[in-house]
Amino acid sequence: MLFIALGHDGRRALQMAALALPLLVWVAWPLRTAALHRLRALFAWPLAMGFVIDGAVRDYLWDRYVAAPNNSMVLGAMSNTQTRESLEYLWLNAPDMLWRATLVLAAAALLALALRRAARWPAGAAAWRPSHRACRYALVLLVLVSAIAHASKPWRRLHPTLYWTKWVDDANRLREGWSQQSQANQRLLESARHAAPTVTFEGASTVMLVIGESINRDNLGLYGYPRDTTPRLESLKAALGDDFSVIRNAWSADASTLPSLRSLFRFGQAHGADAPHLLALARAAGYKVWWIGNQDDMAVEHQYAQLADRAATINRRPGRSGDTLDGELIDEVGIAARDPAPRKLIVVHLMGAHPHYRLRRPAGANPFAGVQDDVEQSLRRAGRSAWTREARREYDAALRYHDGVLSDLFGQLRDSLGVGGRGAWLYLADHGQEVGHELDRVGHSASTAAGYRIPALVWRSEGLPSQVAERPFRADWAAWTVAELMGLRWSGRDAARDVLNAAYHWHPPPLAVRVTSFER
Ligand SMILES: [Zn+2]
Repeated sequence: MLFIALGHDGRRALQMAALALPLLVWVAWPLRTAALHRLRALFAWPLAMGFVIDGAVRDYLWDRYVAAPNNSMVLGAMSNTQTRESLEYLWLNAPDMLWRATLVLAAAALLALALRRAARWPAGAAAWRPSHRACRYALVLLVLVSAIAHASKPWRRLHPTLYWTKWVDDANRLREGWSQQSQANQRLLESARHAAPTVTFEGASTVMLVIGESINRDNLGLYGYPRDTTPRLESLKAALGDDFSVIRNAWSADASTLPSLRSLFRFGQAHGADAPHLLALARAAGYKVWWIGNQDDMAVEHQYAQLADRAATINRRPGRSGDTLDGELIDEVGIAARDPAPRKLIVVHLMGAHPHYRLRRPAGANPFAGVQDDVEQSLRRAGRSAWTREARREYDAALRYHDGVLSDLFGQLRDSLGVGGRGAWLYLADHGQEVGHELDRVGHSASTAAGYRIPALVWRSEGLPSQVAERPFRADWAAWTVAELMGLRWSGRDAARDVLNAAYHWHPPPLAVRVTSFER
């Protein structure tokens, strides 16, 4: 009962108690022979332990992750975990698990003892009958409640035996889905080899594609924001001039991560099963591909990281509440950039400024804490709440840290190329973010333009046409440009969608919100 209370709350705990009832009644029922008694112990102990372990596991998961065992995050992590990782995990979380394990062991021993001593037929008694009438009614009532518990489907599903059998089934089904994904990946690689892409130049080349997360360009100093959020990128721009292009009017076609990544890597054809995949195409052309990410996400892992030759995810906590800073992947990127392979595509997938903003920078590094500046004043005038204004300061502080990460990543690329080496760098965000720009609201935003206003920066060792900065740009067409930076030629190439090409022809993306002008 203690474990039921531990693992469930309120109504759920009562339902569980009703499910455990027959077990209790069965154990309390006096048995005549020793053999039957032993047989009962043999069956009742594992059943009772089911309730005990169920309660302990649920309590642990709730305490640590605020998640039920069948939550997709938990299910995904468990299905995807190898033995070494499990041991690492057990070691890391030993203190939290230890006291629960001790309780479970104690319960196991107590239960065994109780079952040994469980009711036996009193010697000499001819028949056993509940002595009081009230007692009899209570027994009937309990049996009735328990019968209802077992008859009702949502109720019955909670029974540890049924619940965990289904859990194992779900985990297996998830794994199956992934293995289908890896078959799909094989097909993508095959069709890319079929397209037989070639490279326009001889010799080595390194292309780095950096994908930021939840970045609204209106908050970057580089784009004219009054707060000093991008000092290092601005000095890079000053030093490199037209070779480092700040594309003024860049837009994402989606307001959330997965659809945006999908259309980016599938050449704008998010739903086309036959659409080529940028990573597969790069590999078919002889590029060695890296996926270095700070987002531990199953879908990303299976749709992108597995298509790369080398993959590294530095964030071990699934979901976006992980707090590993983007700066921690810079070394990993440096190692990739210095790899002896002549042609390299290094994709870096950052956490950027994804909520919660204050997790996206080192503690204490908020240059905008408590400032009373023009941004603050205009937010006040627009009637933004204190909470939104504070979120804006946190967001801008995350961007200031992001500025350093981007500059360091760019530095890793430049250093690895040496003098005269061929290389290119493209940075964009998967989507924008609403932080009191148009509404008194904070977060991803499909319903305001702020959700789609992204930055896009491009540098190429061979230089860039100066018009690039003024051309409107779509994130879902970015693969055409990355392919151009790698020098790829294949039958499906479309110069009209490559922002670097003179034949570039703009079409506004179909957004969920009406945008009055894509060129401001
Ligand atoms: Zn995102």
